[in-house]
Amino acid sequence: MENEYLKNINYKETNTLLVSLKMSALENNVPIITDEGINFLNQIIKLSNVKNILEIGTAIGYSAISMALKNNVRVTSIEKSKEMYQKAKKNIKEALLEEKISLINKDALELDEKKLGMFDLIFIDAAKAQSIKFFNKYKTILNETGIIITDNLLFHDLVNQEVKDRNLRQLLRKIDNFNKFVVLEKDFDTYLYQIGDGMSLSIKRK
Ligand code: SAH
Ligand code: MG
Repeated sequence: MENEYLKNINYKETNTLLVSLKMSALENNVPIITDEGINFLNQIIKLSNVKNILEIGTAIGYSAISMALKNNVRVTSIEKSKEMYQKAKKNIKEALLEEKISLINKDALELDEKKLGMFDLIFIDAAKAQSIKFFNKYKTILNETGIIITDNLLFHDLVNQEVKDRNLRQLLRKIDNFNKFVVLEKDFDTYLYQIGDGMSLSIKRK
């Protein structure tokens, strides 16, 4: 969670397309990555010389567009919802990023991951109850020195809180399960960070 003081003086996005995409996501209740989260992602990409990224959960394409604009990378992004896919497609076209971002309109749990190629970074940001499944399925197409980053580990600070709603309680329990699972994954060095809405960084062991 970003400290108010740091937030005030911190780097602010100036790219007009990204700023307007973020505003439209906020207006339409589309849950996009936080400023802190996207800066963390983009800096990891630069530090680790990431070239190929797989994103699970495109929404309107905000995070994919940011990663592709700021780095010399190719992004493949999977989105289940037809409506979101179409919005992302339009936004990527407007950003002139069709060469760098490929979109797939499918349920990420159903498609054949072996046909996608190999990736240096996998960003898991889809249905929060399914993160363990995404992790296990997609770690098989991660390169030797690859990284998996998962978003929304805190789910708006609700994880580990008492809530009345049964469905929400179940979702929070699944996120808690993922958080506990991912730190114990023996093929990865993982740390859970209090960045954005909570993000895990898992680096594949050599
Ligand atoms: N990464 C985006 C936000 C993604 S929001 C950003 O930060 O800009 C999560 C998205 O995941 C939603 O659009 C939802 O439709 C999609 N999603 C949920 N379950 C999915 C699945 N099984 N396969 C593919 N996409 C999924
Ligand atoms: Mg997210």
